[in-house]
Amino acid sequence: MNDKKRVLVVEDEKAIKLGLEENLKFAGYDVQTAEDGPEALRLGLTSHPDLILLDIMLPGMSGYDVCRKLRDGGAHMPIIMLTARQDEFDKLHGFEMGADDYVTKPFSVKELLARVRAVLMRGRERADEPHEYVFSDCRLDTESRILTRSGKALTLTRTEFELLAYFCRNAGKALSREVVMNDVWGTEYYGTQRSLDSFVSNLRSKIERDAHDPKHILTVHGVGYKFLL
Ligand code: CA
Repeated sequence: MNDKKRVLVVEDEKAIKLGLEENLKFAGYDVQTAEDGPEALRLGLTSHPDLILLDIMLPGMSGYDVCRKLRDGGAHMPIIMLTARQDEFDKLHGFEMGADDYVTKPFSVKELLARVRAVLMRGRERADEPHEYVFSDCRLDTESRILTRSGKALTLTRTEFELLAYFCRNAGKALSREVVMNDVWGTEYYGTQRSLDSFVSNLRSKIERDAHDPKHILTVHGVGYKFLL
């Protein structure tokens, strides 16, 4: 049995693509490559790679759109975005489109491989956790990524979903805003705490009976949040 992890490298700059391909192969991964958005989308949806390295500026379709369409198409593998400094990568937008992490070009191969390992490891740890959480009239299934309330499916954005799943996994713990942002969005996320608060407020309006008197996502003053199942 071949238990090598398969990485799809999407990059239209040939030198970078080749460098990534060689280094990943050397590190023990199987590698597929694509050079444009539509091909990336096709391979991502049909060949089920374990991880995708996705450039943003691509011919045919941007990396953001590829990412969103993969998620819309039900693909849940981790995606690391490759960004050029001059792209002024919008991190929040990237995460909202479904990216798990990003690295800025030019990057060191060592750093990139560390990210690849970390993201794959995160996925494996999650496989051992319960995937269904029930609170009040809500039920969150983290495998099918569906939240139902009184039996009706509710629409969550990608970030809202990740945040709610994180709260469920860490129910009962007081969580600082820094820790939540770090764990949900990764170590290099520099979004404002206010953006976290606005995601929380959206989530409250979806899952709480009274968003102004929450029973599940509680505010811990001076700290952050505590989720109660
Ligand atoms: Ca490019």
